[in-house]
Amino acid sequence: MTKTALVIGASRTLGLAVATELHRRGWHVIGTVRGERHTGLHDLAADRLEVEQLEMTDEQQIHALGDRLAGRSLDLLFVNAGIAHDNIGVGEVTTESFTEVMVTNALGPLRVVETLGPLVTETGTIAVMSSRQGSLTMNTNGGHEVYRASKSALNQLMRSYAARAAGARTLLLISPGWVRTDLGGPGALLEIDESVPGVVDTVEARAGEKGLHFVDHQNQVLPW
Ligand code: NDP
Repeated sequence: MTKTALVIGASRTLGLAVATELHRRGWHVIGTVRGERHTGLHDLAADRLEVEQLEMTDEQQIHALGDRLAGRSLDLLFVNAGIAHDNIGVGEVTTESFTEVMVTNALGPLRVVETLGPLVTETGTIAVMSSRQGSLTMNTNGGHEVYRASKSALNQLMRSYAARAAGARTLLLISPGWVRTDLGGPGALLEIDESVPGVVDTVEARAGEKGLHFVDHQNQVLPW
């Protein structure tokens, strides 16, 4: 039977590549973009593809998407969307910038998980794009303080969700590696096609494993 995935933030770079890879592997993909502009997602073959709209920081839009998808059954909810601002320390960051990163990377994904998680089958998977930078243990060098804090907050919120609401579902926090994207920058170690097939392999390999797992694109467990 064809499996269905909802990919949040599928307009470009990693999210588009995840949607494309799932589609290539035979999944029915619902991908979200912001606004009405044409994106790479629209260029995928029209069979097994639906394009939806979501600005993830807008609570009303999350609920509206939930209403539009009511009655649907998802095998995978993959929350990819995220942002990083300039690499400035917490002593200099504006409250506005700090808040935007936190709301986008931590609150937004969890609102999506809370609202759309019930559409995921009892043994389906909810995956959220995290980062090695969200690991407290691995933070020995500092840098990217606000981004790190937002991904740590994301991980913490997912642990609470796992303790409270996961049921038999598989919950994944995935680090894609450091990838050359708009966010990762030109100096990153990996091309998108060196990361995303491994991300999707990891999602497929972990399917059916109950509980929360913090893993990378090579399915290696990362320390909290
Ligand atoms: P990009 O900046 O290249 O792309 C970000 C994607 O998220 C775009 O599709 C963008 O949509 C979407 N997005 C951003 N904010 C929102 C929002 N408020 N609502 C809806 N969609 C939004 O980032 P990457 O592809 O590099 O990163 C994707 C994910 O991977 C992020 O969560 C990031 O933190 C994580 N990650 C990336 C790493 C890397 O090295 N690249 C390393 C570790 C983690 P739009 O086109 O509309 O702007």
